[in-house]
Amino acid sequence: MLFHSTRGNDSGKDFATILMQGLADDGGLFMPDHWPQVDLEEIKSKSSFIDVAKYIVPLFTSSSFTEAETIKIVEDTWHDFDHSDLIGIQTFEDVSILELFHGPTAAFKDFGLQLAAAFFNEVLESENKTAIVLGATSGDTGPAAIDACKTYKRIKSFIMVPNGNMSEVQRRQMSTIDEDNVFALRINGTFDDCQDIVKHAFKHRDFLNPDQYLLAVNSINWTRIVGQICYYFYAFNRLHSKGDLNFSVPTGNFGNVFACYSAHQMGLPINKISVAVNNNDILHRFFADNDYSKKIVHETISPSMDISVASNFERLVYDFFLERDSEQCAKLFNQFPAHGITLDEEVWNKKNKLFSSSRVNDAHTQKLIQETYAAHKYVLDPHTAIAMDEATQQSNKNQHYIVLSTAHPAKFPKVYEELGIAISNTPTALMGLFGKQETLHTLDAQYDQIVNFINQHNSEVNL
Ligand SMILES: *Cc1c(COP(=O)(O)O)cnc(C)c1O
Repeated sequence: MLFHSTRGNDSGKDFATILMQGLADDGGLFMPDHWPQVDLEEIKSKSSFIDVAKYIVPLFTSSSFTEAETIKIVEDTWHDFDHSDLIGIQTFEDVSILELFHGPTAAFKDFGLQLAAAFFNEVLESENKTAIVLGATSGDTGPAAIDACKTYKRIKSFIMVPNGNMSEVQRRQMSTIDEDNVFALRINGTFDDCQDIVKHAFKHRDFLNPDQYLLAVNSINWTRIVGQICYYFYAFNRLHSKGDLNFSVPTGNFGNVFACYSAHQMGLPINKISVAVNNNDILHRFFADNDYSKKIVHETISPSMDISVASNFERLVYDFFLERDSEQCAKLFNQFPAHGITLDEEVWNKKNKLFSSSRVNDAHTQKLIQETYAAHKYVLDPHTAIAMDEATQQSNKNQHYIVLSTAHPAKFPKVYEELGIAISNTPTALMGLFGKQETLHTLDAQYDQIVNFINQHNSEVNL
């Protein structure tokens, strides 16, 4: 299985290459050359999440790793989960909650990032090289990236955090890690400023040691998607007796929905994919009105979904709406965001049926948390609550919906203080955070300052 860019000018690459490269040379996103097909009877016969993953992951890694090598990596990858099968499932009438927050940072991002980090390390060991991870985060990516990479001494992580809307728990998850290969940088600027610095760094690469990779951990990395595809098949394994498969997914950068769509292309019989967003509604405007255009970011009580553009959306436009016409795709996305995207009305109308979308504001999010708590004594995190909206409405029409629960509510304690709801089952990983010493290096949003900082801390790695 080889990979190519959505924009047509970077192709024939193997798995290890696109893993380490991140973004394609032409600015596009990597896609598999075809969709491997999955035997659903085989999926039904698996007895754990790991067994499902051992079947799915090798389908994408075969150009660089033998099946046996990949299986070994998959067996050793996901660590520090507080659930024996990694994922919990709660069913309330016609809605099931797929709990993806049992990992060490209490958000679903542990699934994609732990898999990516394990493969990063595998490649670095075999080539005897080191790497720098440089990322910008406003939510759960930073903690999950730091946690996933911290045990691998060949990788030094520098994560930039804007002074802005992130919960104290999320900040402390990054600032209290006591490892000498991890640096949390507080940047006097916005998330977009941090993103610009990352982009600049990838262009210039002027601070790398010889034989050192610069790695991207944002959600455009294909390996993160692979880790997430696995749990859609696992949901089928556990819940296929409930009838039609419908998923409701709290959405920001569209990585999680794209993994769902990928599972569909690989043969998972999905009826509907519901794209659930907060007031940052670029995706809702596309699915409801065929209008994908950038607007300013609003701060909400679901901060991990506060985005102005959804990077993985390009993959869907390329694969699904444009049926892999890379020339068209390049034309649309090279002009974006200066020009918004509106697709051919007929194509959009015909294809849109696989999806639905909903936009939920803060007040309604709070109401959904309260209603679910009143009915089931179950506390939804604010992101998950947003996906609950469509699920409860549709399940009244006799459709079973699976809601992806992307974070544990204990990451957002302020929300529950205001609602007067007590969270009783705080994960152990989050419990000690408030007693620990924080180390945050404060820098201005200037490329030179970041480079100086990296240079100071990028001396030879002790292996
Ligand atoms: C990252 C995140 C999301 C959004 O996921 P995408 O793959 O970017 O769409 C939703 N909820 C939580 C809790 C997250 O951390």
